[in-house]
Amino acid sequence: MNIILLGYPGSGKGTQAKVLSQKLNMFHVSTGDIFREELAKKTQLGQEVAGYLNAGRLVPDKLVLEVLKSRLGAETRGLLFDGFPRTVEQAEGLDSWFMSRGQAIDAVVFLNVTEEEVARRLGARRTCTGCGRIYNTISAPPAKENVCDACGKPLMVRDDDKPAVIERRLQVYRDQTEPLLAYYRASGSFYEADGSQSPEAVAEKVSALLRKP
Ligand code: AMP
Repeated sequence: MNIILLGYPGSGKGTQAKVLSQKLNMFHVSTGDIFREELAKKTQLGQEVAGYLNAGRLVPDKLVLEVLKSRLGAETRGLLFDGFPRTVEQAEGLDSWFMSRGQAIDAVVFLNVTEEEVARRLGARRTCTGCGRIYNTISAPPAKENVCDACGKPLMVRDDDKPAVIERRLQVYRDQTEPLLAYYRASGSFYEADGSQSPEAVAEKVSALLRKP
């Protein structure tokens, strides 16, 4: 099974992808995580993408597709995409890649959350510097302020979760990613879930949608 999670930055894709990939034994593909890791390791790719990430702009399609194909070629589990595709060009690239492997996308799940809510969530998001676990200072704070419950490392505000960059990311979503809703709606395996509820409730809803024949 191959699944795509769609939605605004901050709509809960990363949180849901972590839960679902474990539950369904799928490979969680987060292009944002891949780029952040490369950035942290200061690799050549990391240096190439740094400017885009820090400004809240999209990494060019060609580069994103190259990176993905080189990383996913040998993976045998089903793929659960979080943060990819983000443009119609990327979606077309993914379609032809799957076709060349005799595979297809089984479900596209759109996590529907208002723009006001995602802006609020992004401002309150904290990410663990050790294990990457995501917190929210309002709705899901850690037990001890600024310390990860899971690994004890300090939490941070991602550079692109800072106020000036948040508005740019929302604009980029509206302009370049939102057209994917129409693209995938036309494909037949498109589902929508209300992403404004608690992570547990959303996970339950998405699991139920995926169980549908
Ligand atoms: P995310 O963690 O998914 O919000 O991604 C963080 C940043 O990584 C984005 O703001 C982009 O700069 C870059 N990025 C992640 N995924 C993609 C993608 N599929 N296409 C282009 N840029 C991406």
